[in-house]
Formats: sequence, structure tokens, C-alpha cells
Amino acid sequence: MVRKLEWSKYFKIESHKIDAFINHFGAKKTYAMGLMPIRGPKGFRKLDYEFVEKDLNVAEIMNKLERAHFNTLGIVIKDTDGACTWDTNVGWNPTDRDILGEFCDAGKESDIKINVSFTSMNDAYQGYLHPERVSVHGKSGEKHGIKYKEGEISTHIEGEMRIDLPEGISFKDYQKKIPFLTEQIDEKAGKSRDTRSKGYIPLTSFMCPNSEHQNYLLALAEEVVKDYSIKGFFADYIRYDGAFTDLCTCHRCIQKFRDKYGNKPKLLKSNDWYDFKADTIAHYAQKLHNTIKSINKNCVSGWFCLPGPKKLFSRKRLGQDWTKLSSILDIVSPMEYPYLMGTRDDGWYWGKVADLFYWYFIRNMKKRAKEFKAPVLSVTNSVECNVKEMLKQMRGFDFGLGIAVFKYYGTSDQQWEALRKYAEEEIGLENLKF
Ligand SMILES: [Zn+2]
Repeated sequence: MVRKLEWSKYFKIESHKIDAFINHFGAKKTYAMGLMPIRGPKGFRKLDYEFVEKDLNVAEIMNKLERAHFNTLGIVIKDTDGACTWDTNVGWNPTDRDILGEFCDAGKESDIKINVSFTSMNDAYQGYLHPERVSVHGKSGEKHGIKYKEGEISTHIEGEMRIDLPEGISFKDYQKKIPFLTEQIDEKAGKSRDTRSKGYIPLTSFMCPNSEHQNYLLALAEEVVKDYSIKGFFADYIRYDGAFTDLCTCHRCIQKFRDKYGNKPKLLKSNDWYDFKADTIAHYAQKLHNTIKSINKNCVSGWFCLPGPKKLFSRKRLGQDWTKLSSILDIVSPMEYPYLMGTRDDGWYWGKVADLFYWYFIRNMKKRAKEFKAPVLSVTNSVECNVKEMLKQMRGFDFGLGIAVFKYYGTSDQQWEALRKYAEEEIGLENLKF
């Protein structure tokens, strides 16, 4: 028998909200698998549009999920590249396929509910199309060897994802399709998280949350909720870029800040400035929530949060006020990925690094759980770790409502087998039925 942590004493969530969550999804526990269509057939360190167009097999995915007893599929319908993988009139869809529509159709014939994950502020394509909407650095600096100057926009080399050219296509031609692709190549893969992939390096942009980008996002959300039978709409990257402390000092943000707080408070480092950042993000959350509910009041709104220190990370860098955001949106999903930081399979050292992160993430949740005002459903990783590590995270971060695992592609056969058993022996199939 596996001993589980008793989480209920740490959370302060009104019981009617928990009941609403369970009623809405129709099962006592949610067991969700994440799919990132454009990250290719293995891990998540590629952008692979060819794969989505030619090889992604919807029926096969749904069958595999059913065999492992998943009752929910979470699809990343818009990733950090900005591609919108549905039939959109507003956004950019380079795949020539309505992936979301295909899954919604397949979902009707199965017992699997569809949630979508929607990357908000991080958007490489919009950064290319609208550099004037990208957030602006407030001071000069250097990060991971990339130099930037005060007043420059925050469009940088992407840290995580790489691109391979499709066979028979030249770089120049492919760049016409993927305009944020650079000629730089990463030749060697390493073991730390940001050095694991190879291929052409794309650009990445964090958009200014006070810019027209906000309305673009709301128009996309409207399209999705109106046209597709989804259960939940989760905002990812509903925040500032955590890599920098000096965003965003564009003319819009400075104007808004000064209008509200006057000329005295300092940009970038006053309490008023951090309040301003958190309010900016909360304001977007409220608009997004209203947009979703105005179209379908039964569609659950949610957001992804990054665990970490409250003041230094959530507040100063990300502009995420957990209490505010979880008072607005229906569900919160903390991204608990300690074993993405390393795995024992890469050697003793990397196992120890990840164990330390696991310990920290658990401690961080215990400490900060009371900040959440909405039901909490964690997402943890199955990729880039082994069976033992995966199960440890699933047990550790199930706060009572179930668990989401990411991601479909890259999960090994042994892990799929363990996932099936986990549903049968630890969650209980009766808790997963609608
Ligand atoms: Zn701005």
C-alpha cells in the first residue's frame, strides 16, 4: 500500500467550489493526459508541423487513452510558437488541419472529455507579426549569453524547442512558412533542461499584456468556446516572462502605471510596480473568464501556475497573484515537474537534482496551498523520467481531485502500463466513471 500525503489540511477551498468541479466533470476524479500536437512524436523539444499534418492519428490516441482509463484529454491548442490548431479565422494555423475539431468529434463517441490549454502571452508568431506588441526591456542585461538593451523588445532565441527542416525543403522556403525561424543551429544535446534538443533555433516573444495582443487572445478564445464542445479552457503563460525582471516598460505600460500611481513610484522595483503587474495579469484573467462564460457558462475556466517562491518569483517576475487569479478563474493547475529537472536514468547526479526539486515542490505547495481559492488539479510529467519517478509525482501531487499527466508522446510503454495500473489500483475505476 502506498501512503499518500494528507493534503486537505493545507487547502482552504470552499466546498461548493469542489462540488461544482466534480459535478461539472461528472466524475469524482479527473485523470487527464496532455497532448502537445506540434511538439512532435517524442518529447516536447521540437516544433514539428509536418508531424501534425501527416502523422498525428486521432483515433489511435483516443483508443490508447481509453485503454489506460483516462477520462480527460488536455490538448495544447495554442503553444508558445503561436500556431492555432483549430479552424480559425482570427489566428495562424500552419497545419492545414482542424485538430481540435477532430478530437471533439472523437470525444463524442468516447467517454473522454476535452480540455484545452491556451498559451497566452508567449507567442513567437505574433512577435514576428507585431513587434510593437512585444514586451519591452526596462534595462540592459545579459541572460544565457543573450545580450539585450534597455528599450529593446523581448524577442529572443528560444530555449527549449528546435526545428528540423522537412525533407526536400530549403531553409529559405521553410522560413516563409515559419517566419520566426533563425539560421542558428544547435548541434549537440546535453542533459540539463535547456540543452536537451538539437536543430534550427526559433525565436520566442513574450507579448505585452497591456497591448492589443490581449484582444487578439480574447477573439481566439471566443472562437474556440463558440465552435467546439470543450469542457474546460485553461490559460497557460498567463504571466510575464519569468526569465527577466525588467518587463514590460513599453509606452503603454508606463502610461498606465503613471496614470494609476503617479510619478513617484519607481518603475521595475517598487511595490506599486509589482501590484501593477499582478493587476494587469488578473485583468486579462477576468476578461478571459467573462468571454468564456458569456458564450458557455458550463465551460470551466482555468489557469496554469508555476510553483516557486511567492515574492521573488510569482510576484516580482511572473506577476501571478495566486489568490487573485484563483478567485477569478474556476480551476488552477500547478505545473509540478520536478523530474523534468533530471532523471535517475541520466545518472546519480541528475536523480539527486530531481529529488531535491521534488522535495522543494511538495514543500512549496504545503506552504502556499492556502493562497488558492479554487479547486486545484496538478499536472505532472511522464516524459523524460522513469516509471518510478512518474508514479512518485502522481501520488505526491494528487490533492484530492485527481491528476493530469503530460504528455502523450514521449511516454514509454512501461509508463503506459503503469498509468493503467495506477487508474485501476490507486484511483479506482469507479471514481473515473461519468
Ligand atoms: Zn507593455
